[in-house]
Amino acid sequence: MKTDELPMPNLPEIRRERRESDIDRRHLIREIDQLRRANIELAKKNVALTTENEDLEKNRFKCNTCFSQKLCVLLPCGHVYICETCSNKVNGKCPYCRSNIEAIKNVFIV
Ligand SMILES: [Zn+2]
Ligand SMILES: [Zn+2]
Repeated sequence: MKTDELPMPNLPEIRRERRESDIDRRHLIREIDQLRRANIELAKKNVALTTENEDLEKNRFKCNTCFSQKLCVLLPCGHVYICETCSNKVNGKCPYCRSNIEAIKNVFIV
């Protein structure tokens, strides 16, 4: 092939494409940065929610009055709402349904 048969490079077109690809690259870098930041925020939220979930799980079977001792069942109503200690401070009435407490039993959740 002779030199004069080679197609002439379209310089303005090449420059324009290069400019556009530079702009695209900058956009992508900015987007990656934003996604990285969003990812960090989500990771932080995930840690907070995991901790909250663990706390909720820990307190799932705890007394609704003192929030520290384990639940017992009040009989005959059968409500599992407060602990044995708190059940002795409710004047013999279930704090949930107001029926008389005749007996208190431990519960064993398996
Ligand atoms: Zn209690
Ligand atoms: Zn009750």
